[in-house]
Amino acid sequence: MELVKKYGPSSRDGKVATYIPELAKVSPDGIGICVRRQDSLYCAGDANVKFTMQSVSKPIVLILALMDWGMDKIFEKVGKEPTGDPFNSMIRLETYEKHKPFNPMINAGAISIAALIKGDSPAHKIERLLAFMRKIAHNPSIEIDRRVYQSEKETGHRNRSIAHFLRAMENLDQDPNDVLEVYFSQCSVSLTCSDLANMAMVLALDGKSYETGEQLFPREYAKIAKAYMVTCGMYDGSGEFAIQVGIPAKSGVGGGIMGVAPGRMGIGVYGPALDSKGNSVVGIKMLKDLSDTYDLNIF
Ligand code: GLN
Repeated sequence: MELVKKYGPSSRDGKVATYIPELAKVSPDGIGICVRRQDSLYCAGDANVKFTMQSVSKPIVLILALMDWGMDKIFEKVGKEPTGDPFNSMIRLETYEKHKPFNPMINAGAISIAALIKGDSPAHKIERLLAFMRKIAHNPSIEIDRRVYQSEKETGHRNRSIAHFLRAMENLDQDPNDVLEVYFSQCSVSLTCSDLANMAMVLALDGKSYETGEQLFPREYAKIAKAYMVTCGMYDGSGEFAIQVGIPAKSGVGGGIMGVAPGRMGIGVYGPALDSKGNSVVGIKMLKDLSDTYDLNIF
């Protein structure tokens, strides 16, 4: 609660995302936090407010794609390096080896990965993805926010151009519109800070459920997701975040950040006012404070 009081006013330093019209309607003052440990969940502030996952979905979808195909196929489609460019940048698609996106945490890479989710139709792929997210969040009622989905579908011209470019370069082998249906749906998954904290805790335990001890996905895939989160999870703010906070994390323009303290805790923060890189202003401040207080820095 202290963190919420202390950092609430900082939301004024950021702005909500407006390029997806439905996100522009959200109040910029929201602030919430949940911390999951093995057998406790602590929440404060707007912990029950729902928001869309947006790019926080990227490491989770990556893990499902790894489970569907294995590592070789994934690394054929996306690289392993950060870009230093904004999340929706296309500039390096034309200049990098085989027109392969640099990593799966930027939009181009995430669109390549969305294409790998197995299923008979986009609807089937989305259903599988939702089922996987529900399982990791230990919450069977997670759903897609249809309004945000529709809003992004209507206005996502930049993502459309990325998908069509990838298709032209044979990185995608299917209809870009079908792939975007999956991508826009994963971005529109609606959840709360506690869902993010729960998912983060499973990553903190290398794929194990904190409730049952069941291995929900292979350990090595949790390691890959966390490595990408450290190097690329906060986009072109990843280096700064690694120095300041020092934990694997993934942000989204809905205002959520999922932070992982390996072996110790899963953290979900929410604050829709974003900095110039698309990361939650109050979210980063709360994560830094927690990292300092509990000595979470992994480096
Ligand atoms: N849906 C958003 C987009 O594709 C996700 C980006 C983000 O959260 N940074 O633009």
